[in-house]
Amino acid sequence: MPSAFASAYAPAPGRTLWAAVYACPQCGHHHLARGRALEALAGIRRARCGRRVWVVIARRYRGGGEGR
Ligand SMILES: [Zn+2]
Repeated sequence: MPSAFASAYAPAPGRTLWAAVYACPQCGHHHLARGRALEALAGIRRARCGRRVWVVIARRYRGGGEGR
C-alpha cells in the first residue's frame, strides 16, 4: 500500500469538514479528501482516481487561510 503524505486543513469558519490534499503515489495527481475529523482523513482511502492509498497526515494547517 503506497503512502500519500497529506496536508490537512482545519475547518474554516462556516465549514464543518476537514480537508486534506495529497499527491497521489498511484497516479501522480493531487487529490482532495474531506472528513468530519482529522482522524477520518488518515488511513486507507480510495482516491479519486479509483486506486487505494494509505493517507498519512504530514502537515496540519488551521482553517481560515492563516497559520501557513
Ligand atoms: Zn490518484
